[in-house]
Amino acid sequence: MTSFPQRGRRAAISTPAPATPPRRRRILPRFDARQTFSVIAMAFTGGMIVATSVPALAVTATDVEQRASVYAPVEDTVSFTPQTVEVGSEAVESTLASEAYDVHEAPPPIVSQVASVGAVSLVETGAVVWPVQNPDRRSSGFGPRDAPCAGCSTNHDGVDFNPGDGTPVVSIADGVVVLATENGGGLGVNVEVQHNIGGQVVTSSYAHMQFGSLQVSEGQRISAGQQIGLVGTTGQSTGPHLHLEMFGSDGVRFDGFAWLAAHVG
Ligand SMILES: [Zn+2]
Repeated sequence: MTSFPQRGRRAAISTPAPATPPRRRRILPRFDARQTFSVIAMAFTGGMIVATSVPALAVTATDVEQRASVYAPVEDTVSFTPQTVEVGSEAVESTLASEAYDVHEAPPPIVSQVASVGAVSLVETGAVVWPVQNPDRRSSGFGPRDAPCAGCSTNHDGVDFNPGDGTPVVSIADGVVVLATENGGGLGVNVEVQHNIGGQVVTSSYAHMQFGSLQVSEGQRISAGQQIGLVGTTGQSTGPHLHLEMFGSDGVRFDGFAWLAAHVG
């Protein structure tokens, strides 16, 4: 049977008498302080690395006056195949950001009812481009005029661009094609595209294009600058030109040239 020595006795046996003078004992706290300082220094250095590796966008989030707004995907309200929601690459940063961020949902698409294609989901955009190159070459502006041909209107519903026969015609903005026909009556080969420009439904109509030049079909989602067709002279037209009409949800035509001049970025 083994008997364990009592604690005090064991300590007395195993621990030799203090070999270190009291002077050396006082060094220990100073050494600990240095360690503590170096830990703080390391933490500070680490903090600097983190701070410098945070994207500039995140830094602005601490500014309550100018908070970064990041769009996050929003549930589609209308099933539309294929359906995508454009999300800026900055949105990825929002998952890393702190509560200082305001994360906004993208504005919900406007759902427009169009007889030809049904419900159309229009994603908001602000990017607007000219429908043809050399937009300053125009033959007829918007509004009252002397009719240039027997069946031509005296009140011009659009603006006539003259970039030359066969010049590509492109969509002025992201949108959905709601009309694409080669039998547009006086408008000839005609395409209409609906857009959501800053929360407003705006329709652009491209007329007199060449037969066989259409690159889009009804219901198709297209992008700003995407080719629709080629400048032609189909329908009631006196020569190759693009007749562009623009109107809002009320259908009332407005001056597309003035509008584009104000919106093209
Ligand atoms: Zn015209």
